Formats: sequence, C-alpha cells, structure tokens
Amino acid sequence: MTHIYALVNQKGGVGKTTTTINLGAYLAQLGQRVLLVDMDAQANATSCLGIDKRTVESGIYELLMDDKPIADCTLVNTKLNISIIPSSPSLSGAEVELVNELARESRLKTRLKPALKQFDYILLDCPPALSLLTLNALVAAEAVIIPVQCEYLALEGLGQLAQTINRVRSAMNTHLHIRGLLMTMFDVRATLSTQVVEEVRKHFPGKIFHTIIPRNVRLAEAPSHGLPISAFAPSSPGGQAYLALAEELLKGDKKLDASRGD
Ligand code: ADP
Ligand code: MG
Repeated sequence: MTHIYALVNQKGGVGKTTTTINLGAYLAQLGQRVLLVDMDAQANATSCLGIDKRTVESGIYELLMDDKPIADCTLVNTKLNISIIPSSPSLSGAEVELVNELARESRLKTRLKPALKQFDYILLDCPPALSLLTLNALVAAEAVIIPVQCEYLALEGLGQLAQTINRVRSAMNTHLHIRGLLMTMFDVRATLSTQVVEEVRKHFPGKIFHTIIPRNVRLAEAPSHGLPISAFAPSSPGGQAYLALAEELLKGDKKLDASRGD
C-alpha cells in the first residue's frame, strides 16, 4: 500500500520542507519509490532539489487546476531516484481559483489516484497555513507528520491543527490520524530544547518520533546546492538524524502494514 503523508504545521520555518526533502531522499536510498509533492507557492521544496521554479511549466498548479495528467506534471531526479511534482508562483492563484470549483477539497486526492501504484511513499509538503491547499493535502493523506521546532511557543497553533485534523476526519477522511510529531532544530546546549520536547510530549503522549532532528548548519546549507543532505553531507549530524527518521518510519509502517494484512 502507498503511504501518503502530509507534512503540516501552519507555522512557517519549523522544518516541513527540510523534512520532506531529506526524509524523502533517505526513503529512496532505502529502496522506496518516493514522490514528493510541493504544495507551497513559495516552491521551496522545488528549489531545494535544484529546480528553478520560474521554469516549471507543468507542476502542482497544472495538476490541480488544468487537469493535466500526473505523469506530465512529475519530474524525475534519476541521480536521487526520486520524483517530484514541483510548484511555481502560479500556485498562489490556485487558492482563490479553487474556491469556486466542485469538490474543491478532494482535488488532490482524485488527481493522485492514477499514480498510487507507482509509489511506496508520497510526501506532501504543505504551505504555512491551514488553507484550501493544506485541506487538499489532509483529504488526500493517510496521516500527518507534524514538524515542531524546539523553540519557545512551539505548542502554539498545535491545538488548532489537531482540531482541523479531527474535523477533516469526521467530514472527509475517516482514517486520517497523526503519524507523529517530529521535534526539529534541537539544540543540545539549550535547556529550552529539552523543556520543549517534554512539554510537547505531555500534550501528545506516545506521538513523538524517537528520532529528534538536531539544529545543524549542514541542513541549512544543502538547499543552496540543490541537494538533499543524503547527497550533500550524509555523515553530518543532520544527515544521520534524517536517515534514522527514515528507518524509524519504515520500520513502524512495516509493522502497521503487517497488522493490516497489506
Ligand atoms: P518550513 O517548510 O516549515 O517553513 P523549512 O524546512 O523551510 O521550514 O526550514 C526553515 C529554515 O530553517 C530553512 O532555512 C532551513 O534550511 C532551516 N532548517 C530547517 N531545519 C533545520 C535544522 N535541523 N538545522 C538547521 N537549520 C534548519
Ligand atoms: Mg516550507
């Protein structure tokens, strides 16, 4: 079965895109067939893989709004063995244009369907808002991964996000759940980081990934080279952490699949 995860947090700068790219790259390295979907008009995930967003002629906008076949909207990075549906600035118009469309919340789900057999993992990199595009991701996804930055006010907004997930579950996607909260940018020298992890653990018991992503400058440098950390600095603490996350996710999912008889 294809696992579709939405990387969601309406806060910007918490590590959604960094996680999408690097988790995706390591899942691919571990033999999984991976598709990344850039749902953000800022197109950071697209740029992180070295694609110039201004040159994108077929991507997420065309998939959602022009009914272009998914194969035509997908780019393949053969070196990394990873596929991406890129974004471009035109996506900012989709938010307004979608409002008048029929079945506006389930467009992405419908449009992804023909490609499900080709992928083991589909990661949806969401914009920093609980917008119609994020709603499309929540309707299409099996579960959400919530990156949480180890900083003051980390919990802010998580209650609202949990409520939104509950609402989508009861109205449009009965199986939607939180796959895990991922603590990001952990600073070993700051007691605040440890306090934040404990605080989040109290509110979401049993829901935090064991793997914690450290603050690591190599993770911030990799995008300017158009590379994921797996190709840029695999032995860095950030590289090691995202590899551990991919292994943790894969192991957990195998267990889930076995218990469901997939
Ligand atoms: P989001 O997609 O949630 O807005 P990003 O993944 O773009 O967040 O991350 C925000 C910024 O922080 C980016 O410049 C990114 O390179 C940097 N960053 C993300 N995770 C880390 C980390 N673990 N260590 C250092 N810098 C990070
Ligand atoms: Mg982002």
